[in-house]
Amino acid sequence: MIIHLKEGVNQTVVNEWSGPLKALSFKKDDKFILVTEASVKEIPAQFESYVDSFWVFDNDIQLASKKYKSEKRTVKIGDVTIGGNTGNTILIGGPCSVESEDQIRESAEFIKSLGLTTLRGGCYKPRTSPYSFQGMGFEGLMLLKKMKAEYGLNIITEARDATHIDEIIEHSDVIQVGAKAMYDQGILRACAKTDKPVLIKRGFGTTLKEFAQAAEFVLSGGNENVILCERGLRTFETNTRFTLDLCGVAWLQEHVNLPIVLDPSHAMGYAYGVPVLAKACVAMGIDGLLIEAHPDPRVAKSDASQQLDHPTFTKMLNELKPVAEAVDYKII
Ligand code: PEP
Ligand code: MN
Repeated sequence: MIIHLKEGVNQTVVNEWSGPLKALSFKKDDKFILVTEASVKEIPAQFESYVDSFWVFDNDIQLASKKYKSEKRTVKIGDVTIGGNTGNTILIGGPCSVESEDQIRESAEFIKSLGLTTLRGGCYKPRTSPYSFQGMGFEGLMLLKKMKAEYGLNIITEARDATHIDEIIEHSDVIQVGAKAMYDQGILRACAKTDKPVLIKRGFGTTLKEFAQAAEFVLSGGNENVILCERGLRTFETNTRFTLDLCGVAWLQEHVNLPIVLDPSHAMGYAYGVPVLAKACVAMGIDGLLIEAHPDPRVAKSDASQQLDHPTFTKMLNELKPVAEAVDYKII
């Protein structure tokens, strides 16, 4: 149950409630909001006078549910807003990993030259093998920060675990919670305490309910700036790296009130399929696309096979624009 308390109800009352109802609470516009397990269906009589409004749910998708907010939420990334009825599809590009100053500078110049606003690049890489390149860590984050300062771009980078989440929150404009990290409560709880946008990637074995519940961890701490990112599931198929779950996206669009970004790069695993998949994604009327691009994918230190070279990325962008227009969206 979500309970909006009346203006002026103070922390003491909230503390009294939170115990018996096992409620989480946060404050919005000077009013407290309590969220209990969905199994709670009624307001205890002694608290009724404090309640402004309340919503009852069948399951623990609550703050993220369209039953609570029927309009899709908006999220601001620097100067641009996605979600709501903005009709914006933000194209976030850049390499899988920050590898050197030259490489990330070339990427930043490229993203800027296309009139795009947001640069991605991983610094703390959640690699499958301990022997592969693990990312440049803090040094990479500082390079991203430098690119932000020099090119006026927003930066997005992923948290691999909770050990470095504070520095990512401090320096990044959007915190990416990776597919392998989306169950990490340390990361999610830290993201709940900031108001920076958090992009949560769906794990490759994660149900839609679990995905939305990861968002609930952040929302229930009071951070409303959550974006969901579909990036492919593991299925029986091995010819592509993962299977992009567009049915799942349609389900989220119907039931969940958060902006949705799609990542065809990690789903496909091969550059050749990325532009055409990107068109399919944009045709669904989505809030953003995350596409890996590298100045020279052949020498990329991670995800080399799926990163687009810059001419291919440019061609893809030009082809996406009319697709977006056809569904009343605009690539920004
Ligand atoms: C990435 O974005 O580079 C990445 C590692 O993605 P995912 O968490 O989806 O595997
Ligand atoms: Mn990658």
